[in-house]
Amino acid sequence: MAEQRVKRVIIAGGGTAGWIAAAALARSLGPLLEITLVESDDIGTVGVGEATIPTHRTFHNFLGIDEQEFMKATQATFKLAIAFENWARDGDRYIHSFGEVGRGTWVADFHHIWLQGRGEGVAEGIGEYCFELKAAEAGKFYTSDKAPLSYAYHLDASLYAKYLRKLAEEKGATRIEGKIKSVERDGDSGDIAAIVLESGQRIEGDLFIDCTGFRALLMEQTLETGYEDWSHWLFTDSAFAVQTQAVRDPIPYTRAIAHDAGWQWRIPLQHRVGNGLIYCSEDLEADAARQRLLDNIEGETITEPRLIRYKTGRRNKVWNRNCVALGLSSGFLEPLESTSIHLIQLGITKLIQMFPFGGITPGLRDRYNRQTQDNLEHIRDFLILHYKLTERDDSPFWRRCRDMEIPDTLKTRIELFREQAMVWKDQDDLFQIDSWLQVMLGQRLSPAAHHHIGRLMSRDQLGRSLANMKGQIADAVGKLPTHRQFIEKYCPAPKP
Ligand SMILES: Cc1cc2nc3c(=O)[nH]c(=O)nc-3n(C[C@H](O)[C@H](O)[C@H](O)COP(=O)(O)OP(=O)(O)OC[C@H]3O[C@@H](n4cnc5c(N)ncnc54)[C@H](O)[C@@H]3O)c2cc1C
Repeated sequence: MAEQRVKRVIIAGGGTAGWIAAAALARSLGPLLEITLVESDDIGTVGVGEATIPTHRTFHNFLGIDEQEFMKATQATFKLAIAFENWARDGDRYIHSFGEVGRGTWVADFHHIWLQGRGEGVAEGIGEYCFELKAAEAGKFYTSDKAPLSYAYHLDASLYAKYLRKLAEEKGATRIEGKIKSVERDGDSGDIAAIVLESGQRIEGDLFIDCTGFRALLMEQTLETGYEDWSHWLFTDSAFAVQTQAVRDPIPYTRAIAHDAGWQWRIPLQHRVGNGLIYCSEDLEADAARQRLLDNIEGETITEPRLIRYKTGRRNKVWNRNCVALGLSSGFLEPLESTSIHLIQLGITKLIQMFPFGGITPGLRDRYNRQTQDNLEHIRDFLILHYKLTERDDSPFWRRCRDMEIPDTLKTRIELFREQAMVWKDQDDLFQIDSWLQVMLGQRLSPAAHHHIGRLMSRDQLGRSLANMKGQIADAVGKLPTHRQFIEKYCPAPKP
């Protein structure tokens, strides 16, 4: 039998990325590996990253995580959607929900039928035909084994790392507290041989996972892997984050409110709200950004506003030599669609599935890197879409967004929707057809033509069918408890 060549896994960093990696490895492959995580309390974590997408639930299912226990431990609430305010025009509002929009057929997606109905004056706004969207608007929520709503969570990032740490340590992962002072490379192969702590402790490994955040201590500072800058497409480079007391019941969606140099988030947890202002430093000074955030929050602040600078883009390789980068060390895409934690989970899931028991080979690394790049570029295009399709011209920021050149992949998507109402999802794409649809329509992109399947019905039939669908959704939403009521029963967290 072939010997196991990779056994000692060293995770550098214990933020969301580090502890997701440790928990996932320990729970899936634990007895086969020696897992060590090194983190420094002195350095701390980035402390943001609180909105997720539905894949989070799939990942938790893989790990056998109990939903109620997790939600109580992390002050979590449910998330059905993101509301985009002021994006296409100042005063606009649309919702990108996680749900299915209407019911299509194998011939054509629902929106073609809806476009026909709209042309004939018998269809209402597309959101009327989506259960999750209407529940979000009404502040309602319910889940059970039999009611498969599509949803995600808002959670407290620090509590989540603590929760995962417990899971990882229960399954045998070892934590070492200490500051990494240097990283040693093997003189012959150039691979990473060990990390050395300020205390002098030397920790050897076969595979290193760099979760040291923006510092990218192993992947960049040691291996000099390089970075592809995407800031010519996604202009923001800074964020202020602050936490406030909750002054109202938590809504089951994230708010993304555009301003003249970026946007602001509001993420409701059970007892507090996470707020942040994302902006482009070319258009807004830090002091003004901080003040703008403080002027646009509700409730007492619990923390001091904290400035975080970033560069949008991706590491040239996320698996280089015997090192894999996860989290902020692997690149950064702003949290507009809450995709970073998903990318960490995807990265570790792929690593578990492709684990190099037989040794790390170039072919394996290339495949991992190729897949990761495809996943990232798809998300990148989706984010650019929100900016490119603006009609705002009230500031240099929005004019630059509107006028920028975009990747060809995105150009094709926009053109085909504009010409034919065509939307698609390729095999490994994260975002579903309904996600592209809701954002494209929400950003006021109007198709010139659509599939004619809707013409097989008379105007009356089409109107009745759409009205029925809308009525069924409204009835079902009416019967749901409020989000607050449901949380109080299902997963109440103790007040901190
Ligand atoms: C403004 C902003 C908003 C965001 N919002 C979202 C969101 O809503 N949803 C989402 O999915 N993602 C979001 N993200 C991304 C998310 O925060 C990160 O993906 C996630 O927190 C992972 O961070 P990390 O663990 O890679 O890094 P960090 O949290 O920075 O952790 C780094 C770790 O490395 C350790 N470390 C560093 N140097 C050393 C050293 N020398 N010795 C020992 N230890 C060291 C630190 O102690 C720490 O434990 C957001 C990011 C930003 C910047």
